[in-house]
Amino acid sequence: RLRREEKAWQINALARDFYQNVLLQYSEAAMARDYIASRGITADIIKDFGLGYAPAAWDTLIKFMRSKGISVSDLLKVGLAVSGDHRAYDRFRSRLMFPITDARGRVVGFGGRVLGEGLPKYLNTAETDFFSKGKILYGLNRARQAIRDMGYVIITEGYMDTIAAHQFGMTNTVASLGTSMSREHGQLLMNYTREVIIAYDADAAGVAAAERGLDILQELGFRVRVLSLPEGKDPDEFLRARGLDQWRQQVENATPLVEFKIQRALAKYQNGPLFRDAVLEEVLPALATMSGELEKNEAIRMVAARLFTSYHVVAEQLQRFTNNNR
Ligand code: ATP
Ligand code: MN
Ligand code: MN
Ligand code: MN
Repeated sequence: RLRREEKAWQINALARDFYQNVLLQYSEAAMARDYIASRGITADIIKDFGLGYAPAAWDTLIKFMRSKGISVSDLLKVGLAVSGDHRAYDRFRSRLMFPITDARGRVVGFGGRVLGEGLPKYLNTAETDFFSKGKILYGLNRARQAIRDMGYVIITEGYMDTIAAHQFGMTNTVASLGTSMSREHGQLLMNYTREVIIAYDADAAGVAAAERGLDILQELGFRVRVLSLPEGKDPDEFLRARGLDQWRQQVENATPLVEFKIQRALAKYQNGPLFRDAVLEEVLPALATMSGELEKNEAIRMVAARLFTSYHVVAEQLQRFTNNNR
């Protein structure tokens, strides 16, 4: 098993170097270089994150790998080639390539972005027991020391968000690659910190992802806060439009999870019947997973005030919820 993984890491690293060489050297990649420049990405970042470009032809990588003694069947196994009706072909074509590494910097897969518009916007290495997005945090290998030093981690959705954060010096940033946070993600982070700031996109997908998954982090003992960007923006767009100081401000003003949930629930149920029950329903899981009696009591008081009810009513509901979910 380990030998198989080692071989996969080696092949992926070789592919990363190949794609990067294409990006930097090939005339075919001129459009990709222009695109990267148009997104504000620097030469240093290209190097640090191993960015590359996959050419348009069906078999560029297959041919390159053959010249290095690596077979098509090996490429099929690591998901860099796809088997067609007659012959195998490269999985990634005409895409900007983002190598995905584990916490130790080993290349476990890739994300490939179309240049400009086009679908799917991102194509990833297929999910296998070897590569699973639910167990990987993009950028963690480059972020982990800063996470320790700064005492917290910022979690974004996208490659571009984490890259922009690092470019601006917020190197304690990682990306969950569009998936919501899992127990495995939490366990990865536990080695470095118990403070999480969620900086998802201010769009429907981002808000939905923030409403899922975060209770799991609290349950694992993390203090979770949520950053709210202006409508429609993501961290990459915000940083490049407004700069580092305003980004830092956003980070400092991030909202504790319970507060975030109650704001969302109040907006959703405002004048509805039984709004108090409906709001409580959504907030109780976040309350129940809070650690620290002092903070929890303060949160109960805050929820009670927002619902124009007493501490005891909320505490009682919380007790009932906890008993039912034991
Ligand atoms: P860009 O700034 O280049 O448009 P983005 O990161 O802002 O990219 P989003 O559409 O906000 O793109 O998606 C957030 C993240 O979700 C992506 O970075 C990617 O990891 C993941 N994602 C988006 N679309 C897909 C897809 N079609 N397949 C798999 N993952 C995807
Ligand atoms: Mn988005
Ligand atoms: Mn974006
Ligand atoms: Mn985005």
